[in-house]
Amino acid sequence: MSHKFFVPGEQIVDDKVTLIGSDVSHIRTVLRLKAGESIQVISDSDKLLTVRLVEVKAKEIRGEVIASEKLDVESPLAVHLGQALTKGNKFDVILRKSVELGARSITALTTERCVIKTHQAEKKIERWKKIALESSKQCGRTRVLQVAENIETLEIFCHKNNDQDLKLVFWEMEEKSFLKDLKLDREPRSIAVLIGPEGGFSLLEVEKAREYGFQTVSLGPRILRAETAPVVALALLQSLWGDL
Ligand code: SAH
Repeated sequence: MSHKFFVPGEQIVDDKVTLIGSDVSHIRTVLRLKAGESIQVISDSDKLLTVRLVEVKAKEIRGEVIASEKLDVESPLAVHLGQALTKGNKFDVILRKSVELGARSITALTTERCVIKTHQAEKKIERWKKIALESSKQCGRTRVLQVAENIETLEIFCHKNNDQDLKLVFWEMEEKSFLKDLKLDREPRSIAVLIGPEGGFSLLEVEKAREYGFQTVSLGPRILRAETAPVVALALLQSLWGDL
C-alpha cells in the first residue's frame, strides 16, 4: 500500500505536486522513496491522487499526478464543535473521535468551570493539529479536521459561528428538548455545537449561548462524561442530517 500525505492545495498546480517540510524528511529518510516511486496525496478535496515522485531533493520533492480517484468520505453536514477544555488527555481522545465521526472543526473553549488554564492548553494546539492530521489519515478522510488556532471563550465561539444553520448547546439540565424533536424549516447543512467541561456550563453561559441563538438540547436522562458527550452528539447529528 502506498503512503498517504495531505498536501495544501496551493502546492498542487496543473498536476505538479510539491512537497516540503516534514513530508520531505519522511519520504527521503524514513520511507527512503526514490524518484519513480509513488505516494498517495489528499488535498482537502474529495480526491485521492496517486503521485509519482519525479525529483527527490533535500528541501523539496516534486511529483506528478498519474491517477485521481473520487472518494466520498466527507459528511454533507459540517459540524463545528466548541468543546470546553477537559482534564488530562481527554481532549486528545475527543479530538480523535471527532475526526472519526466526521466533524469539520474543533475549537477548544475556556469556560467558567474549566480547570485547565488557557496558557497551558495553548501549548497543546500544535500537538492537537498533528493528532488531527494523523487521525484524519488513519480513518481515510479527505479533509483534515480543523483545529482552531486559539483557545476561545464561549462568547467568541458563539459570535464566530453565528451563521451556522443550527446552533446547539448540549446541556444536562435540559429535560424537554431532544435532537429528534427540533422543529426545523429545512435540513441543516452546518451546525455549531457546544459541549461543556467536567463541571458543566454555568447557567450564565447557557444564557449567553441562548442570546446568540443557540438552543439547549438533551442527550438523555443520564449525565454523560465530558468525553462521552461529544461522541454521542456527533453520532446523533450525523445520523439525523449527515452520513451515518
Ligand atoms: N455538570 C455535570 C457534568 C457535565 S458533563 C455534572 O457533573 O453534573 C460535560 C458536558 O457534557 C456537559 O457540559 C454537557 O455539554 C454534556 N452533557 C453530559 N450529559 C448530558 C446530557 N444528559 N444532556 C446534554 N448534555 C450533556
